[in-house]
Amino acid sequence: MNTAEKLSLDSLSSQGIWEKSKPLLIEELGEATYKSWLEPLSINQNSEMLQTFAIFAPSRFMKDWIIANYHDVILRIVQKFQSNISSIKIDVQVKKESSAKVENNLHAFTPKTEDPLDQKEDYTAFLDVRYTFEHFVVGKSNELAYAAAMRVAESEKPLYNPLFLHGGVGLGKTHLMHAIAWHIYKQSPKKRVLYLSAEKFMYSFIQALRFKDAVSFKEKLRNVDVLMIDDVQFIGGKDTTQEEFFHTFNALVDQNKQVIISADKSPSDLEKIGDRLKSRLSWGLVADIHPTTYELRLGILQSKIETMQMDVDIHILEFLASKITSNIRELEGALNRIIAHATLIGRSITLDSTREVLKDVLRSNDRRLTIDDIQRKVSGYYNIKVTDMLSAKRTQNITRPRHVAMYLSKMLTTKSLPEIGRKFGGKDHTSVLHSVRKIESLLPDDQMLFEDIEKLKKSLELGCS
Ligand code: ADP
Ligand code: MG
Repeated sequence: MNTAEKLSLDSLSSQGIWEKSKPLLIEELGEATYKSWLEPLSINQNSEMLQTFAIFAPSRFMKDWIIANYHDVILRIVQKFQSNISSIKIDVQVKKESSAKVENNLHAFTPKTEDPLDQKEDYTAFLDVRYTFEHFVVGKSNELAYAAAMRVAESEKPLYNPLFLHGGVGLGKTHLMHAIAWHIYKQSPKKRVLYLSAEKFMYSFIQALRFKDAVSFKEKLRNVDVLMIDDVQFIGGKDTTQEEFFHTFNALVDQNKQVIISADKSPSDLEKIGDRLKSRLSWGLVADIHPTTYELRLGILQSKIETMQMDVDIHILEFLASKITSNIRELEGALNRIIAHATLIGRSITLDSTREVLKDVLRSNDRRLTIDDIQRKVSGYYNIKVTDMLSAKRTQNITRPRHVAMYLSKMLTTKSLPEIGRKFGGKDHTSVLHSVRKIESLLPDDQMLFEDIEKLKKSLELGCS
């Protein structure tokens, strides 16, 4: 491009630049992508920021999506026509309203209106952009739920209806549901995927009843292609809401629309939910998410620091993964805290600073699981008496469970070796260390021991969360 040409382009309006960019964007991204994602954008004429190319997106979802996927291409291409553009700013302007309704980035995940179902166009208002399949780390405890979610997201017609995901708090149910929604939006932007917490469902329903608008409430819900209701245990004991949910559910399933439900328990264990509904909920595929394993926790921490482009010593991550076993939300919170602390005081993260910053979290994770719990569980598992485990007996049928219990005490609590020794009938710390090492050395080759320990860990973590 020669200087004269460039000069004349420099005086182009934003609108002009955008029109000139169109063929280049199509060339780079393809016609279909351009049509789905870029065509709905418009130029923000009111922007007065000189070096910023200001655009409106018609929904929050579009905005997040453009930023995540097309920001760089757009910037590169508009710069060809106006080299001094240094950034792109995207605001949300809901088209149907005449007065420009510009949304602030900070409120990206707070509902726009009181009634979530009023957002006819923006079904994604309740979705978290970080909750995608790409950001979901798969391990033994969640692989079934993950695979089921993937299948449902990818298939055109419902394969399993409903998909019912269940598991304890903070184990990734909401994350998986949002991931399904994002995936469907990416594949078929026109599909209407509605995600609601059971609480929002109830709230909207009550609103509708109050304003004598129940008919349109029903219509709105029955017009979606995919309906997701999160934490359905919430409607336990709320009979009218349950009844309504039951009808909505049946109507959608009858029309061959996908329904996805989550709860903290399996359908049959749900409390104060009618038997008809319970049985209906288990018609499709029921997938549970188990408590996390150490490997999964470590994997999640590693993936998180990669995304944040942070450098945290592996020993710190291992420490967190072994000590914070309650759930992933707490684990993420702990990582964020130590990173924030280190950034704030400008020093690198050490094991000591981690212990200090996370004192309360570590203590509460500790409290959940005591050495007594472990001794009881392990003795029961191997069918020996706790008193024998704590004695000085050295027969094989006693020493193996004792080693396992010591090993688990080290892995799953924050107790020191001497403390553990004391709890095992006053043994000294070297004998605890010996037991821990012994188990560690056997684990790689002894499949049965490995499985015993996995089972014990699972049931210990279940029993205390
Ligand atoms: P639930 O709905 O089961 O209570 P969430 O889906 O809200 O749990 O998950 C809690 C937090 O843990 C979220 O920040 C989520 O992103 C994160 N998380 C859960 N499972 C995973 C996973 N497998 N990989 C990465 N992050 C996860
Ligand atoms: Mg949740």
